[in-house]
Order: sequence, then structure tokens, then C-alpha cells
Amino acid sequence: MKLAQSPMTYHQFGDIHFALKRDDQLHPQFSGNKARKLAWLLDTTLPSDITTLIGYGSVQANSLYSLAALAKLKGWQLEYYVARIPQWLTASPTGNYRAALALGARIIVTETQPAEYIENVRRPDQQCLCVPEGGRSQWAQYGVEQLARELLTQISPSVRQNTIVALPSGTGTTALYLHKALASHDIQVVTCPCVGGEAYLVKQFQSLGEKSHPHILTLDNKHHFGKLDKQDYKIWQSLFTATQVEFDLLYDPMMWRCLMDWLPNQSRTSLVYIHQGGVLGNESMLPRYQRKFG
Ligand SMILES: *Cc1c(COP(=O)(O)O)cnc(C)c1O
Repeated sequence: MKLAQSPMTYHQFGDIHFALKRDDQLHPQFSGNKARKLAWLLDTTLPSDITTLIGYGSVQANSLYSLAALAKLKGWQLEYYVARIPQWLTASPTGNYRAALALGARIIVTETQPAEYIENVRRPDQQCLCVPEGGRSQWAQYGVEQLARELLTQISPSVRQNTIVALPSGTGTTALYLHKALASHDIQVVTCPCVGGEAYLVKQFQSLGEKSHPHILTLDNKHHFGKLDKQDYKIWQSLFTATQVEFDLLYDPMMWRCLMDWLPNQSRTSLVYIHQGGVLGNESMLPRYQRKFG
């Protein structure tokens, strides 16, 4: 199986006309930027004795679901290690956690740090394949290059010098490799740091060994990852009303807030926004927002 070419749809949000790269529609289960980052695992011929995929991170992370979907496609067992599972989530599984369980994932709570537990207690053998948290790996470049190739067929050469590609960052892996692949085609890539601040994001870029980085936009006010934020909710609702597309609640609102401030002063006028998936995570975020803000 190869990931299919995801479509581009066209929208207007306020005064902004934009194209939307629909990586949320890559595949029914294996989609978004985690699918791009893990695509190399799908396409590479791996030793046939591998039976187990091992990952770790937050129990609500989009990468949990993507790893579960990948394991299912490959016929592997996913073992996913977490530091904790909130009691309300154990009581009524929802979002990525619910969907990963339904795909057969084994989710294991560890007493020490998950990464350390895997190394020292689980001790992966030749039958195991371990994936770093959030797919932060140089291997991710493979699938992000494929995304860039698709964009180059979807953005006409005559408008490239006028094009801005925008996508929010967690680890920054996707934005970094997209920038690397598109810079020589005169396309500008912009991003914003959703987890930690600008300095954290720059460090992430550097840890992947790349010197040239995408342009970073930030908000004037502090922004906390995973915390309910009224401005985030408002822009998410307005986006939905304007486009009838469901965006992710964790990352996309900050990127759009940054763009609303920054875009009007730019000479480039053609915006391509990357929908990186993650809407399954809304299943747990949205009820929290609705309880708090109505
Ligand atoms: C994981 C994720 C991101 C962040 O991706 P990075 O490559 O870690 O920067 C952004 N948006 C969504 C929806 C995600 O699931």
C-alpha cells in the first residue's frame, strides 16, 4: 500500500482566500502528518521477523492512533507506553485512545519514564521496531518529501514565488522537512511553535541537523499547549463556519491566529494551508470546550 495523493480544496476565511492540502483525507485510518512521518515504515522492506511496533508518548496523542493504524496495516502488534492515563479517560475511552484500542493497540502504563522503561525493562529485541516520540526522526523526511512532490504538482509554477505554505509545529519535524524540500522552488514555508516557545522549536530544528529553518510566527500572548483557550475555540468555530472543514483543536487555532496578524503585511498573497489531520483528538477536546464556553 502507498499513501494516495491527497486532494486540495479551496476556501475563503474572512478576506483570506486559501488552498487546503487535505492530508486529513490521505487514508481512512492512516492520515495526517503522522502518516507522512511514518510512511517510510510502510514503504520500506523490513526484516520479516518484526512482529511488534513500540512507541510512547501521551495517551491522547494523534501519534498513538497513527501507530495503531500502521501496526494494523502491517499485521504488527502495537505496544504503546504512557506515563499515565487520566481516570476519566479509563472510565470512558474517547478520541485517539478509544480508536487505538479498537485497532488492537496494547497501551501500557509505566512507573518510570516510558522511554527509559522501554530501554531498560522492555528491552526491545529483533522482533521489535521502536519509533521516537511524535515521529521525530530523520526518517520522517521520506514521507514529507512525498508531500512536497504532491504540492509541486498542485501549485502552478507561475505562482510559486507568490506562495506561502503554512502548518503548525509540535516537534517541528514536518515543517522543517517541508521547508527543506520547497525552499529551492521559491515557496516560503511558515510555522508556529504550539508546544514550548520559539526557542524550543529552533532547538528541535537544530537537533534534526538542519541549518536552514522555516519562518516562525508567534503570538504576543503566551499560549499553552493542550489548555483550553477561548480565542482558539472562537477561531476554530469561525473556520468551521467559513469552510465547513473541521480543523484540529490543538494545533490549528494558533497557526490561524498567527496568520491573521501576519498575512496582511506580506507581499506574497497565495496561501496553501496544510491540514495535518488530528480531528479524532477533537472528540475529547470539543466536549471540554463546550462545557467551558458553550
Ligand atoms: C503531530 C501534529 C502536529 C505537529 O507535527 P510536528 O511534525 O511534530 O511538528 C501538527 N498538527 C497535527 C494535527 C498533529 O497531529
